[in-house]
Order: sequence, then structure tokens, then C-alpha cells
Amino acid sequence: MTDKELADLIFPDIKETPEDYEKMYPKRNLKEGAVVSRFAPSPTGFVHMGSLLTTLIERKIPDETEGVFYLRIEDTDQKRSVENGISGIVQDLKNFDIKIDEGALSETESTGVYGPYVQSQRKKIYECYAKSLIERGLAYPCFCSPEELDETRKIQELNKERIGYYGSFAKCRNLTNEERKERILRGDPYVIRLKSPGVYEHKVVFNDLVRGKVVFPENDMDVVLIKGDGLPIYHFAHAIDDHLMRTTHVLRGEEWLSSVPVHIQLFDILGFELPKYAHLGLVMKIDEETGQKRKLSKRKDKEAAVSFYHEQGIPVMAVKLYLMTIGNSNFEEWLNQNPGHDYNEFKFDFKKMSASGSLFDLEKLINISRNYISRLTAEEVYENALKYTEEYDKEFNDLLVKHKDYAINMFNIERNQKKPRKDYAKYSDIRPYTWYMFDELFEKEENKVYEWQTINNLGEIKNILKLYLEKYYHEEDDEQTWFERLKDLSEELGYAREVKDYKENSEKYKGHVGDISMVLRVAVTTKNQTPNLYQIIKLFGKDRLVKRLNEVINK
Ligand code: GLU
Repeated sequence: MTDKELADLIFPDIKETPEDYEKMYPKRNLKEGAVVSRFAPSPTGFVHMGSLLTTLIERKIPDETEGVFYLRIEDTDQKRSVENGISGIVQDLKNFDIKIDEGALSETESTGVYGPYVQSQRKKIYECYAKSLIERGLAYPCFCSPEELDETRKIQELNKERIGYYGSFAKCRNLTNEERKERILRGDPYVIRLKSPGVYEHKVVFNDLVRGKVVFPENDMDVVLIKGDGLPIYHFAHAIDDHLMRTTHVLRGEEWLSSVPVHIQLFDILGFELPKYAHLGLVMKIDEETGQKRKLSKRKDKEAAVSFYHEQGIPVMAVKLYLMTIGNSNFEEWLNQNPGHDYNEFKFDFKKMSASGSLFDLEKLINISRNYISRLTAEEVYENALKYTEEYDKEFNDLLVKHKDYAINMFNIERNQKKPRKDYAKYSDIRPYTWYMFDELFEKEENKVYEWQTINNLGEIKNILKLYLEKYYHEEDDEQTWFERLKDLSEELGYAREVKDYKENSEKYKGHVGDISMVLRVAVTTKNQTPNLYQIIKLFGKDRLVKRLNEVINK
């Protein structure tokens, strides 16, 4: 029996040839140097922070070169698939404004002419290439059972030999085609293996975009190409898909680095041009308990899933800016020199990526986010808060809609200045920081805790507030006049006009103007720390202020 006959026996329905697919998926018509990259997750339903960093770069380099970025779903390992696993990923990318030019859009839809973009729908294509390799004597059916393979592994371990299916351990390599036919017709289960032409003693050298020159022994393992369930193993699917989808740059986790010799061999025997590879280090974090560096883990770390940022209302741009700082060592410096600029203006450089992985620090991200929000205009904060609350806080959303101008004015307090106020690190902070600004929430709050400071005697507090309303509150006052009047009020009640006077002669006074303004601040807001009190009072207007102060006076 010839190899061709064996191939026909195994794949009787495959009529296409590799040449057909070459024609069906021609070289892309892009300008010289255009990068085609892809994100190729299993349909696990979520995007991990480490993958988000990868996709950011995968999106950025085509953007820099007029290339293409696409989404391919790698669902050949059914164990890693979950229901609606594609939609979850698509949604995460959408939430982070990472647009795809081609690829899966949902469980059932996709866009682009290089598809299907879901591997389980590409079975015929893999079979075609496997068939052609069998015809060429470069692949064969292997009937070894898991038990037999286990047995081989134990012997190898015992003899301290390399583990795997190669050389004399590759038992099915030497079956005759007649024996193969007999076992296939008998119904024995089998996989398709590569008949590796490699020699372990030979070296392969390749240039990783992040790591530079890497040297490995040539692959001599007869790796599985098609599993017993008919679906391909990663290596085989990677070679065929990235070739037919005309990927130029493969960015992936460093766990794939050691497989490169297999990939180089596959691309070579299939006659494909090798893409450029960038193997990215893991995203790590310092474990809170042990203080040791470890992988950022979806299971242990809430901040590992990108949905966390969306739920918290951490601005997409802040997350991206942070990821770029851990992605490229010179990004932070660039950002400091170009505050407020879009990271897309920054030129990404693989050489400035850490090969050993990057350390993820949520605190730092939060800090970037705080700075980022502080530099937005009040209108932008308002719009973003509106979007966030629409999804996560309907009650607050209604208030923002109802009091639009008021809310924008509120967000404007201490914003347009050299050092803007940095209250909010995330949109979910807004309500807890500003609830007292909304009468609806203020009145609803039954257990208000007034955070009185040095002056905490209710009788004295009432005196101060009454006098303020009677004599010293003038709605039209500018800030300076307003404060002068607080000083007059202080003096009338035996408090120092200036803090410094009080410090010099504390026995002469009951306190100072700062204590008085604190009483006013707490009476209006319940809080001892708020944005500029004058502006809050101004925003309130007379009626609302009187009502607030009377609530304390009438206690
Ligand atoms: N499905 C593979 C993974 O999630 C893709 C690796 C690649 O990008 O080639 O690890």
C-alpha cells in the first residue's frame, strides 16, 4: 500500500489540496511592512490582564503600520471551552475599546474573508494538510494507547532519557502501511503524528522579537498533529492558521517558547514562511501573604480578570496607560513628558519589553487612574460617570440625569487648575464621595454621622450656625469676602481671625477661624474633608444651605 493510498484510506472525504487553500487565502494586499497580528484565546469567557496587555500590542503594531488585527478562537481543547466563551471575550475587548478588523464576533458570527476564525470550524482544512503530509510520508497514524505511552515515559524517566515520542520510542513510526491499514480497518483508535525529520544534535536558531537570538536543539519528536477526536493539536493548527490567515507577527506567552523548534519544522515541511515571534513574559504580582513574586492568577486575584476594571469603573484609558508602562520600559518617561497624550502616539518597541515578565501593581494602576480622571474636563467626568452608573447604579444615574448642570458644576470644583483635585480613582468612587451633594440622597440617609472636629459641642455648633445664617451669610459674596465674614464671625464668638494668632496666644481664644469653617463644612456635608467649601455653598444656593444648617440647628 502506498502512502497516497493510506492517506485516502484515512481521509476519504478530503478532496481539496493545500494548493486550493493557498488560492482561497491569498497573500494579503497590504503595504510593505504592514503587520498582521492576532489574538488567539481559548473560548474561556474572559480576558486575563496578561492577555489584555498582549492584545494592546497586537492592536497597536498593525495600527502603526496599516496592518490587520484579528481574533481567532482556539477551541480545539474542549476542556478549556465554556458556554458563551466567545461572547465573553468579545465583550471584554469591546469594553476596552480594542477593535478587531476581522474574526469572531460572537458564538455564531464573524467578519473577514480569511475565516472561519473558530478552529473547530476549520477541521477540513487541517485534515487536508494532514492528508498531504501522509501522502508525502511525513505523517502517520499512531495506535499507541495512553497506557503504552505512559509505560514508555516511565522507562525514559528510569533511564534518565528525554521524555517523548521519538527515535526508537516512536513505535508506530515503523509500522508498514499494510499493518496500518489492517489496524484502521479493525477499528483501532489512532492519532496522526508528524514523522519528524529533525536531528536532536542539530541546532535551530531563531530571532525572538523580545528575547533576541534563541538557540534550541532541532525537534525530533513525532508530535501529534490530529488528536483522536479529529481536532488538531495547537502546533499544527498554529502553523496552518497563521499561514493561511497570513499572520506576520505571533505574540504569545513565553510558555510556547520551547515549542518553537516544532513550529519551525512544521512551517518548513509545509512550505510556509515563518512569522516573526515575540514571546512575552508573564504578568506577575507580589503575593500579599508570602511577599514572593508569582503569576497573576484568575483564581486568586480579582484584578486578573479585565471585567474587574469595568465593574469598578476604572477608565479604560487608565488601564491601558498602566499596561503600557509595564509593557514598555520607556513608556512612563514618555507619558510624563507628554501628559494627557494618547498612548497611540507612542511608538512601541519589542526590545523595551521585559523578557522575564512584568510586575503588576494595582496600587500604581489606581494612581494612574486618579491622575487620569483628574485631568478630564467636568463634562467628560460627567459623561463617563453617566455611562458607568447606567450599568451599575441606576439610582445615582437618575440623579445625574436629573441634575445634569449641577453635577457638571460639582465635578468642576477644583478641576481647572494646575494641580487638580484627585478625589476619584474610579467612577464607583463618585457616589461615596459626593452623595451629600444630592438632597435626595442626603435626606434618605437616616444614620448620618457628622464628623465634628475640635468644636464638637452641639450647643456651640448651633450658636455658630445660627449666627452665620443671621448675620454672615450673603449669597452673592465672592470667595474672599465670604472668608472675611467667617473671620468676623470667629471674632464675634471669641475665636482667632487667623490660625497664627491662635498659635501664638492660644489662651486668649476658644479656637480659630479654621475651627469655625470646619463646623460649617461638617454641617453642610457631614464630612470633615470635602472639596472647596465656598464653592459647595455657592452651588447649593440659599434655600438649600439654610435647610442643611437648620437640620443641625433643630437637632
Ligand atoms: N490558544 C493559545 C493560548 O491561549 C494561543 C497562543 C498563541 O497566541 O499562539 O495560549
